[in-house]
Amino acid sequence: MTHSAVSQSTGTPPHLELLQAAVEQAFNAVVITTAALDGDGPLITYCNPAFCAMTGYVAAELFGRSPRLLQGPLTDSSLLHKLRKCLRHGEFFQGSTFNYRKDGSTYLVEWNISPVRDAQGKIQAFVSVQQDITLRVQAQQRQALLARALDATQDAVLIADHQAHILFVNQAFEHLTGYSSAEVLGRTPQFLQSGQHPPAFYNQLRETLRRGESYQSTFTNRHKSGLLYYAAQTITPLKDEDGRILNYVSVSKDVSELVARTQELRKQANHDALTGLLNRRAGERQLQLCEHLAQAEKQSYALVLGDIDEFKQINDCFGHEVGDQILQRCAALLSASVRSGDAVVRWGGEEFLIVLPGCPPGAARELAERMRKAIAAQENPAVGRSITMSLGVAVWQPPEDRRELLRRTDQALYQAKQNGRNQVVMAA
Ligand code: GH3
Ligand code: MG
Ligand code: MG
Repeated sequence: MTHSAVSQSTGTPPHLELLQAAVEQAFNAVVITTAALDGDGPLITYCNPAFCAMTGYVAAELFGRSPRLLQGPLTDSSLLHKLRKCLRHGEFFQGSTFNYRKDGSTYLVEWNISPVRDAQGKIQAFVSVQQDITLRVQAQQRQALLARALDATQDAVLIADHQAHILFVNQAFEHLTGYSSAEVLGRTPQFLQSGQHPPAFYNQLRETLRRGESYQSTFTNRHKSGLLYYAAQTITPLKDEDGRILNYVSVSKDVSELVARTQELRKQANHDALTGLLNRRAGERQLQLCEHLAQAEKQSYALVLGDIDEFKQINDCFGHEVGDQILQRCAALLSASVRSGDAVVRWGGEEFLIVLPGCPPGAARELAERMRKAIAAQENPAVGRSITMSLGVAVWQPPEDRRELLRRTDQALYQAKQNGRNQVVMAA
């Protein structure tokens, strides 16, 4: 005979004692009922302390009672119907619904019921294992609510782990970057880098976050399409109680339109609308800069001042619009003649100032001559003849200031006009 050993004190075989202790001490609530399905239905014959703790009853109050005493208006009746069907067929059941404690408060229970059969297969009892999942479901609901709220916000949200691997992005992030959540999860946000920031920008970002502080800046990032966008972004490290960084949260707003508008305004503020050249104000700044470099570092600079010859006649004979066209064509020719560090400025109506940092005298004169020839060689169908320009050239002579240099350049231009126009004169 197996299991022949019995406990000295209770007369129960040891493995059954162990089984009883296990059920008594189990974390899950366990309740056993009779197999009777008619009348009051199955009645409780056993429940463990976890079941009592969950329901608020003591065991004696439950013995001989139907588990129905735990049910109430919020209990899902269709689920109970399914439960009875399973019991009738001797099948396993599991589900979750609201139940009621002794004090009338509700809890969300997740439970399963198995029939317990004897050797002949006859159902002797039902055993049910239950768990109060109220807190877990509330936490899940809260999490779902937060995820919905994050998706509803207009700002792009990214959450990463302590190694900057992306754990979550919201819909606004997908919209802003062009990447779907599935494409970015597990990656670091490096793929957004545009190459427009110097390495020092990212070093400062890393350094600030490493100190556990938030980093805020306007990022120039690259959309999946390859186009750049601008994002006003705040990255915040999230820490545990010991101050260790666990996560990073990035919230960003698309400021591309704002940046584009600002750039456009800046352009308008510095450029002449008709020709697209720098305007007089921006030209003044270039002059100031050259003057500063000349005085502080003895870096020379040269000026070329060009004025279209007899331009008034063009306006008078062909109209203002043709005059405007000529101005645009001259401006384009002048721009095409200079190097990238040089500045071509619309200094006045048909007067152009070319600022040449670090340019030696010979080169300045050659450039002016090239410009003169190019303008004279250009065909102007609307006018039917070529247009000419007179140019004055002057190179900085220490210790003169920019006003004095400009005055000498103007004087040279005046001389070119006096000498018969369409020529370059070097200032004395
Ligand atoms: P000079 O050879 O001595 O320079 O003769 P000029 O006729 O070019 O000189 P003047 O200064 O008498 O005339 C300049 C003209 O440029 C007068 C003005 O109407 C015209 N002008 C100035 N700004 C503009 C502009 O934006 N568009 C047009 N179409 N004409 C302009
Ligand atoms: Mg003129
Ligand atoms: Mg003039």
